[in-house]
Amino acid sequence: MNTTAVDGQEIQLRMHRLVPRLLCVVDDVMLAPSMRRLVFGGDDLREPFPFLPLAVADHVKLVFPEPATGEIHLPAVADGRLVMPPGRPRPLFRDYTVRALDRVAGRLTIDFVLHDHGPAGRWARSATTGDQLGFLGPRGSHLYPGGFENYLIAGDETALPAMARWMEELPAGATAHVFASLASMAEKVELPRRAGTTLRYLDRSVHGPGVLADAVRAFAAPVDGLFVWVAGEASAVRPIRRHVRDVLGVPAGHMDIDGYWKAGVAGLDHHAEDNDDQD
Ligand SMILES: Cc1cc2nc3c(=O)[nH]c(=O)nc-3n(C[C@H](O)[C@H](O)[C@H](O)COP(=O)(O)OP(=O)(O)OC[C@H]3O[C@@H](n4cnc5c(N)ncnc54)[C@H](O)[C@@H]3O)c2cc1C
Repeated sequence: MNTTAVDGQEIQLRMHRLVPRLLCVVDDVMLAPSMRRLVFGGDDLREPFPFLPLAVADHVKLVFPEPATGEIHLPAVADGRLVMPPGRPRPLFRDYTVRALDRVAGRLTIDFVLHDHGPAGRWARSATTGDQLGFLGPRGSHLYPGGFENYLIAGDETALPAMARWMEELPAGATAHVFASLASMAEKVELPRRAGTTLRYLDRSVHGPGVLADAVRAFAAPVDGLFVWVAGEASAVRPIRRHVRDVLGVPAGHMDIDGYWKAGVAGLDHHAEDNDDQD
């Protein structure tokens, strides 16, 4: 099956000057038992922070404190390149979506999945007001097109911040078909409501880790005029990428399907993960 290209509706990349920042926690909210919103503020937000409409997957590299010392080894930036602090261990980086930015109040919001398997998941559970965190980026924004008729948007908990932005930023008139895969229904996070959306929560504790791929395979909306965005655990996302690309025949410029983390792998490089899947 092949789709018709939608004129002028391709993903555009806009690069930004890389700025290192040190911010601190100013507020927190539990969104679900394993999802915690942390709001950050600080003088380093006076330097303009890129936050563009429909760049819903924009992410920062967060620099976490070294678990042994509590120090944050925030790199410097020279000529657009990171300069690691000399004589120090490589900083502990992880990618996180910018859920919201309030320029007037100087507040930046990140929603963290809480889990005990890695330093970022553990830090987010125990962080309290005043705790510091390093921020780098976003280095670039993928500006998603807003002129498609239908959007298939799917992911697990790590994708919920970007999915929430899709709901807030998609133009009125576009239809969104949304699948959110959760460890269990107790982890349900409400997504912003918008007209023209069908939203299904999928329970991995009942249907297993393949439930997201099953839902996408059963998806029956027309492929013409369709844009697809999917993110989540890499092994769960891989069969979806193959289905959308090889079975539905969605052109590369009309989809973005990304492995955000991988079971058993610490500090996954999501760019390398995507490149692994070219067969
Ligand atoms: C572009 C992008 C945007 C992202 N946005 C968000 C976001 O907004 N919110 C968010 O919570 N995450 C987000 N992630 C995912 C996050 O970067 C990873 O989950 C990261 O691995 C967490 O780091 P860690 O130090 O906790 O675990 P790591 O040290 O990386 O991994 C240690 C172990 O923990 C496991 N693990 C990692 N993540 C999870 C998880 N979520 N659940 C269960 N086990 C896990 C790994 O499989 C590994 O076995 C994003 C990732 C990318 C690439």
